[in-house]
Amino acid sequence: MFDLGELSNLSARELLKVSHVFVTHTHMDHFIGFDSLLRLLLGRDKEIHFFGPSTFIQKVEAKLSAYTWNLIENYENNLSITVTEIHSERALKQRYESRNRFRASAEPRDLAFSGNLLSEQSFSIDAALLDHKVDCIGLTLKENYSVNIIKEGLKELGLPVGPWLGEFKRAIYEGCNPDDPFRVFWKRRGEEAQERYFRLGELKERIARISPGQKITYITDIIGSPENIARAVDLASQSQHLFIEAAFLDKERNMARKKYHLTAREAGLIAARAGVKELTLFHFSPRYFGREKELYQEAMAAFRSGA
Ligand SMILES: [Zn+2]
Ligand SMILES: [Zn+2]
Repeated sequence: MFDLGELSNLSARELLKVSHVFVTHTHMDHFIGFDSLLRLLLGRDKEIHFFGPSTFIQKVEAKLSAYTWNLIENYENNLSITVTEIHSERALKQRYESRNRFRASAEPRDLAFSGNLLSEQSFSIDAALLDHKVDCIGLTLKENYSVNIIKEGLKELGLPVGPWLGEFKRAIYEGCNPDDPFRVFWKRRGEEAQERYFRLGELKERIARISPGQKITYITDIIGSPENIARAVDLASQSQHLFIEAAFLDKERNMARKKYHLTAREAGLIAARAGVKELTLFHFSPRYFGREKELYQEAMAAFRSGA
């Protein structure tokens, strides 16, 4: 999850899937969801990872120490929270566990940092430090490749779509052995459950198309200074999709500067210079309520013309 704002639009089921949370900075609108998420996870056996900019460990500790944990060590399950605080060339890592009432048991570990926050088999997450009068991190997710299902292939094998396809994709992303058996299991309403076994590699050949992965970039709450814009362009370079703030119209750029935010025009320029394919704007100042179209028009004009 990128940023931790108000979470009421997300169901518990969706939130329970979250394993890593990347917080751009700890202004309230980006961090107020921490408590709701923590509440939901308490009493579960789970490990969750948080990442944020300088002073992040202190901010998380302040949140954790605001509550009373006198009964929590009796819980059967243990919730473990790992917090990584990013600086320009190093990162600090600290761990908290519910069975220790979320008290840190040692000093944070000091690690080298050169842009990569997380590397999985199928994707990685990189960050850049940006300026919002406080440190703020821009984030990018790169899939190593993407697995698409060929409908014709399914038809030829007589296999229906269903939840098994999710497991199939996961097996491919995790680089499982092609000689491993793979069970396709399905049940239609009113019918008996059915299953068939394939060699994973064979199934992959018949029903999957492997294509280059997508790059998705998320940038918010930064001043439109030349240094920031250069770093943002670098981070977003060749993204399929850029999500970026457009807090103000360019005619109010003095206000934008004062509040360390981008204008819609600057957002469009970053997208154009980075060569992104698709642009989504968010984080509009409340003064534009009902006039969001104007922000979009300004950003899109800059995106198309590059000026
Ligand atoms: Zn904000
Ligand atoms: Zn902010």
